[in-house]
Amino acid sequence: MSIRVHDLEPRLLLGPGPSPVPDRVLQAMARPTLGHLDPQFLQLMDDVNERLRGVFGTKNRMTFPVSGTGSAAMEASLANVVEPGDTVVVGVNGVFGTRLAEMARRMGGEVVEVEADWGRIIEPDQIEDALGAHPEAAVVAVVAAETSTGVRQPLDEIGRLAHAHDAMLVVDTVTALGGTPVEVDLNGVDVAYSGTQKCLGVPPGLAPISFSKQAIDKVEARATPVQSWYLDVSLLAGYLGSERRYHHTAPINMMYGLHEGLVALGEEGAQARYARHARVGGRLQEELEERGFRMFAQEGYRLPQLTAAELPDGLEEGPLRRRLLDEHGIEIGGGLGPAKGKLWRIGLMGFGATDENVDRLLSAIDQVLA
Ligand SMILES: *Cc1c(COP(=O)(O)O)cnc(C)c1O
Repeated sequence: MSIRVHDLEPRLLLGPGPSPVPDRVLQAMARPTLGHLDPQFLQLMDDVNERLRGVFGTKNRMTFPVSGTGSAAMEASLANVVEPGDTVVVGVNGVFGTRLAEMARRMGGEVVEVEADWGRIIEPDQIEDALGAHPEAAVVAVVAAETSTGVRQPLDEIGRLAHAHDAMLVVDTVTALGGTPVEVDLNGVDVAYSGTQKCLGVPPGLAPISFSKQAIDKVEARATPVQSWYLDVSLLAGYLGSERRYHHTAPINMMYGLHEGLVALGEEGAQARYARHARVGGRLQEELEERGFRMFAQEGYRLPQLTAAELPDGLEEGPLRRRLLDEHGIEIGGGLGPAKGKLWRIGLMGFGATDENVDRLLSAIDQVLA
């Protein structure tokens, strides 16, 4: 049996990503492909980078989309700033902190894991203790929005601590960017990376990243070359800067989509967008609690764009989640790791964060629970 793209049924994407992509982004992606050195494309790319500086809240010159998904940018962050033998303090309280630790080890880092229970934040005191015990630490890495648990990690205190100990702060903002404020410069973040498919509302395929001047200085002072040629920021600088030196072919049409997504964000305004996520996500969480769901993330640190909710007692999540997809065309996520089989992960991200979508989801949930 053959399948064509045109046969695929659309779904309402309310899982942990990808999030719904609006027509204006899809239409932008359907524009004619240009060459990656075409002056028009270079101008568009420069504008993408400028808009990314705005949403990251940074003046960092080295701000651009990595060719790949969020995990590629995670890899790019660590490959550049971690040298073999560097001590790397990693906050681990979910899937993505675990992944950061694993990648840092593969880069040759001596990883010190700072753990918290899934669903709880990494307390700044824990980072302080780890830095006290490991004064040689070169990098601290945490996840701003832990998509596996729905936890919003506060950053300002950790940024201050890292710098007081002469360490770089690397932050995973994949689910945060475009949904909740990231504020790279205010929080003292040296490397922030993200993805297009969460709160930016663009298909998966590019991964915004930003390196501070200090991070670039550390890369330039490396004794060993970055082990990844593809993700080496010093090589990428040749294409991004005035030289426009070929490194690899930029994913042209993905860049169109990201540009249009960022234009849409600019039209709405970042503050209005954060307020929309907060309001709509807060409403979903209240409505779920009224139906007997329990919030998995620690109170006071819940992400509005990603709700992790344990089902009322006695309900098996898998079959009900499958019915939401089959009978209502709605995709949500299940739990990962220790939370597997225990909870639902509902994303109200980017263009998906609307009252209509909350209404549609709640009505579908009420039907499958009935
Ligand atoms: C989704 C996600 C990633 C990985 O992004 P991919 O696009 O799946 O590669 C990394 N970190 C966090 C917090 C995420 O939510």
